[in-house]
Amino acid sequence: MTSPKADNWESPQKVLVILAHPDDAEFFCGATLARWAKAGHEITYYLLTCGEKGSSDPNTSGDDLCHVRQKEQKDAAKIIGAKDVHFLGRPDGYLVPDMDTRCAVTRIIRQFTPDIIITCDPTHLYHSVSYPLNHPDHRAAGQVVLDAVFPAAGSHLFFPELLAEGFEPHMPREVWVSLATHPNTTIDVTDTWETKLQAILAHKSQISDPEGLAKRWRAREKTKNSSDKNPRYEEHFRVLRWKQ
Ligand SMILES: [Zn+2]
Repeated sequence: MTSPKADNWESPQKVLVILAHPDDAEFFCGATLARWAKAGHEITYYLLTCGEKGSSDPNTSGDDLCHVRQKEQKDAAKIIGAKDVHFLGRPDGYLVPDMDTRCAVTRIIRQFTPDIIITCDPTHLYHSVSYPLNHPDHRAAGQVVLDAVFPAAGSHLFFPELLAEGFEPHMPREVWVSLATHPNTTIDVTDTWETKLQAILAHKSQISDPEGLAKRWRAREKTKNSSDKNPRYEEHFRVLRWKQ
C-alpha cells in the first residue's frame, strides 16, 4: 500500500542525497527524487566517491573513469531535475564509516542544512538473485550518514572544529533510507518511472545493454494492481522523523 501523505509537505523542501557512488541515487530512489523535483523541492546530491573502480576493462584508468562517471552523474541528475551534484572524493570500494568520514559528512549536513536526507540501509547485506551481496560502500555510506545525522549533526559538542569553521549544528527533519530491509513507506512513482529509467541510462559507462536494461526496469517493481496496459511502479523507504 502506498503512503500518500508521506511526502505531502506544505512548503518546498531542501533534500540532500548522500550515497556512495554515481548511479546509486538513480537506481535506489531516482523516481522519488524526480517526483520531488517536479513538485518543486530542491534536490542536491553529495556522492562520497566518484566510482573510479566501476569497470572490468583492464585498459581503463581510475582517473579517466572518475571523470567520465562524474560527467554521467551530472547528466543523470539533470534528467532527475536535481539542482547540483558534489563529490567528496573518497576512494571507491574502500569506503568505511570511520570518524574522519563521519566528521566530513557532518560538515556536509551542516553546510547544506537539509530538511530531508536520503541515504541507504547499512543493514542491507543480502541483495538479490542477480547480485547476492550488497556493495560494502553502500553499507558504509548508509552507516556513516546515519551516524552523522545522530548524534553528531545537531550537537555542538560533536566535532567542535566544525563550529570553528562556521558550521552550526543542524538536524534534518526526516531521513529517508532507500534499499531498506524493513521499509515503512511506499511511494507511487508511476509518473516518474520513465524519468528514472532515462537517468539510469545516462550512466553509459556502467550499462553494456541499454535496451535490455530498459526492458528489465520497465518490467520490475510493479505494484500488485499493475497491468501491462496500465503499469504502476513504487519505491520503498524506511522513513525516520525527528520532532523539532
Ligand atoms: Zn553503488
